[in-house]
Order: sequence, then structure tokens, then C-alpha cells
Amino acid sequence: MTRQTLLLGQTLRYLADPFHAGLDDSAVWDSDGAVLLADGRVADLGSGAAMRAAHPQADIVDYGDALITAGFVDAHAHYPQTAIIASWGKRLIDWLNSYTFPEEMRFEDRAVADEIAARYLSLTRGHGTTTVASYCTIHAESVDAFFGAALESGQRMVAGKTCMDRNAPDGLRDTAKSAYDDSKALLEKWHGCGRLSYAITPRFSPTSTPDQLAAMGALWAEHPDCLMQTHLSEQTDEVEWVARLFPEARDYLDTYEMHGLLGPGGLYGHAIHLTPRERARLREVDASLIHCPTSNSFIGSGLFDMQGLMAEGQRIGLATDTGGGSSFSMLRTMAAAYEIGQLRGNALHPAQLYWLATAGAARALRVDDKIGNLAPGMEADLVVLDLASTPAIAQRAARAQTPWEALFPTIMMGDDRAVREVWIAGQRA
Ligand SMILES: [Zn+2]
Repeated sequence: MTRQTLLLGQTLRYLADPFHAGLDDSAVWDSDGAVLLADGRVADLGSGAAMRAAHPQADIVDYGDALITAGFVDAHAHYPQTAIIASWGKRLIDWLNSYTFPEEMRFEDRAVADEIAARYLSLTRGHGTTTVASYCTIHAESVDAFFGAALESGQRMVAGKTCMDRNAPDGLRDTAKSAYDDSKALLEKWHGCGRLSYAITPRFSPTSTPDQLAAMGALWAEHPDCLMQTHLSEQTDEVEWVARLFPEARDYLDTYEMHGLLGPGGLYGHAIHLTPRERARLREVDASLIHCPTSNSFIGSGLFDMQGLMAEGQRIGLATDTGGGSSFSMLRTMAAAYEIGQLRGNALHPAQLYWLATAGAARALRVDDKIGNLAPGMEADLVVLDLASTPAIAQRAARAQTPWEALFPTIMMGDDRAVREVWIAGQRA
């Protein structure tokens, strides 16, 4: 008989997107909840007493009043930038040249890539993140290192070789042909291996020639089941640079669209300084916009229009953008999304923030039928949060009148101390 584990605690699951359904109808919070795990999946959910009676044979793990939810999903990160997180004083283009490119050069060495991949996965798991969509470097070794480590930990991961054939230093450029050939070989090696998915990954239009973008577009057309990840309209200087590099394009998004790099399954990081045409086209093709709030304030990029873009019906996920982002924590990332919302005059509800970091990010990665929520049949990637992890959080949560009010101090002030336990595919991580 299959071994079953019954987790007891508070549970939070979503029935609908809280940006569009009413807050009361979108989530179910059970203060005496239980989650049954079997065969790496969520087998059943319910109240603690009823589930204990129904599953007397299950091993019990009692988390008391800790909160059990789906693990966090980080929809955009650069694992090779782990060691340069929190580097001082630069905006986007100088950031790349001063910090990112010299560090990414080191990933030619497989031993470096292995070490940083292991460190990154350990750090992010420690913060309750179970799935990430990560850029690698131009080196195939960086992809092998990341996917190899993720295969070992059993995590559902998305990644791809970053492609750049101009405006990057010697040693960090491929060509249109080698980017196509290497990406194709890596895709064939890793896509669908265990829980791993390949994402075709041109860094962004300034570092790819039109030929390389077209080669990436051709590869995506041959493998439409893969995601495609890139950056879009992060800083105004960058938008102007793209206009100079691609005088024939209608706008930044058009530099992707004219090369076959716009479609469902496209993940566009940042998407801050968008024109009305770009917004309409992104919505029309149902592409995913990835909001990276700690990065946007840290690098000084601008204020994402969450309210307006959600009202248009855009598909939006949340992400750290490590190491342009200043934290590995999706709790800190939710807090930053809240702060940016406030600067735009819109206070995001904790139900919306938590949805963005779980089900919303999973929806952006088009795996919301597998992860990002608690429901029977979903893969059992879970985080268990202590909602009183520090004295400051505990004293505020103790005064809360509602579960959302009790969660909000952990969103705003919590870190890896709040993460009691992480489960990956039904196993303790
Ligand atoms: Zn990025």
C-alpha cells in the first residue's frame, strides 16, 4: 500500500484569481486544515479532524498553527548572479557590464557552475521556493549544472542557455548558428527529463543580432511546447537603445515579434515602460508579463502598472530577478510588489500578493495545472510557514482579526526564518 503522509496545520488554497474574483470567493483558509500526500502528489484536503478519521493509516506531521500552502514559484531569476546579489550603485547597462558579465564569464568552468547551482538551489529552497524559471549563461555547462542539480533535488525547474551575439564582452558571445545549435542540443537533452523544462532564452534585444533573434524564433517554432524567456522595457535608456538598434521596429516588443519571439509561452521580464500597442499585443497573444519588484527598485527601473495590466486581463507572474533583484525571498518580493503598488496608489491585498507568488506565477509559466496551489492531483511542492517567526512579526500577528491580517506581517517582514519546512514532490526537502 502506498505510504501516505497527513500534514496538519492552517491551510490556504485558491479557487480563483483574486484580482478578478471577489476576495471572499477566491481563497479558502482553513484554520484547522489537513493535506494528505501520496505518490508525490496532494491526494486529499480537508479539516484536520475529518482527515484524521478518514486516513487512520497515514503518518501524521502536526505543524500546529503554521500555514501550509503551495511552494513559492519564482518566474524569473538568474542563478549565475547568486554571488553578485546586492552589488552597489549601478543601473541596468552598467550593472551588466560591471557585475553581471564578469561573473557570468566564470561559468565556462563546470566546477564553478556546479558550485553556484547547488548554492542557489539550497538558498532558494531555504526561502520556500520550489520552482524557478532561471536564465543560465551562454555556456552549455551552466545549463547542465543547473538541470543536473535540479534533477537531483527532484524540483520542477525551467531554464535555458542565455544567448548573446553582440554588445557583450569577448568570451561571452555566441553566434546565431551556435546559439541555435547549442540551445537545440540542450533542449533535446533536458526538456521533459523528470520535472525539467527548457526555455529558449535570448537575453534581450540589445545583445542579440536580428539573425540571432530569428534563429531563436525558428527554434521556438520547431518546439512550441517550450517556453521562451527574455527581457522587455525595463529602463527608459534601454528602450531608447533598442529603438536605435532596430530602426525598422515599431517598438521594443516588435523586435521580438518580427523575429518569431512573441506568443503564448513567451515570458517577458519587467515590462514596465510599455506603449499602448505593446500592451494590446501582449494581451492579444496571451503572453506572460513577469513583475520583478525588488529588482525594479534596486536598479532604479520604474513602477510596474499591476492594477492597469491586471484590469486589461494580462497574464502576470511574480519573480525575484536575482541578482538584479535584491533578495532570494518571495516573501520580500511580495512586500516589494506591495510597496510599488502603493507608490502607484493601489494597495494589493495579501490574497493577491500570495496568489502572485504561487498560483499566478505558475499560471505565467503555464504549469498551474501541476503546481502553485493545493488541490487533489497537484504535485506536492509545499511550504510550511511560521506566522510568528520573529518577535516583531509575532506581536503584530497576535493582534490580527482575520487570517489575512495575520499573514500580512510575515509578507512584509518575513524571511527564511519563517520557513518551517519545504516539501518537494511529497518528500521533505
Ligand atoms: Zn532578468
